Amino acid sequence: MNEPLPVLFHALEFAAHKHRDQRRKDVDATPYINHPIQLAGLLAREGGVKDPVILVAAILHDTVEDTETTAAELEREFGPAIAAIVMEVTDDKSLLKAERKRLQVEHAAHISHGAKLVKLADKICNVRDMNRAPPADWNLARRREYFDWARDVVDKMRGTNTRLEALFDQELARRP
Ligand code: NDP
Ligand code: ZN
Repeated sequence: MNEPLPVLFHALEFAAHKHRDQRRKDVDATPYINHPIQLAGLLAREGGVKDPVILVAAILHDTVEDTETTAAELEREFGPAIAAIVMEVTDDKSLLKAERKRLQVEHAAHISHGAKLVKLADKICNVRDMNRAPPADWNLARRREYFDWARDVVDKMRGTNTRLEALFDQELARRP
């Protein structure tokens, strides 16, 4: 990508608009867009990721899963490489939740390197949230189930980025 900054700002504006009516599940109902921004920041600052295709995909990673955004729209706006990574980290919402969770574990080892980085950052940010600002109505058992499942997914991606994997392990060690 010759000019990454205009694309990055386009993605920020696009994702902020798509997620404009959504909130995270924590008690403060944090604006949803904070989460994709955190992912991209984590990849850049902690993961040493410099490829703008991956950083932009991180900004967009929940747009298809959680808004009415389509793969075709992402391709048109951001090109096939970015759209492909977002689609690799998008669950098929027509499936039952248990099946979606199982498929994430099954597929994690087989996705592209860029998609693994985005998925690693997503799991780090989510277990961090699960420790510091968990979903308001989740009991301890449900949170613990989430930590176990996130670890199962991350275990399938070991060898992708040492620093990010260590960060995930640190966060997991703080679980209740
Ligand atoms: P969900 O996928 O519905 O919720 C977790 C997701 O919510 C995260 O991956 C994250 O995804 C997003 N999220 C939004 N806000 C937060 C936040 N503050 N902290 C962390 N994550 C946040 O989880 P499930 O419903 O699948 O629950 C996990 C487990 O709990 C399952 O194994 C399920 O079987 C079990 N369960 C237990 C119940 C119980 O009462 N004991 C009831 C129902 C399910 P993203 O980054 O994509 O936004
Ligand atoms: Zn996410």
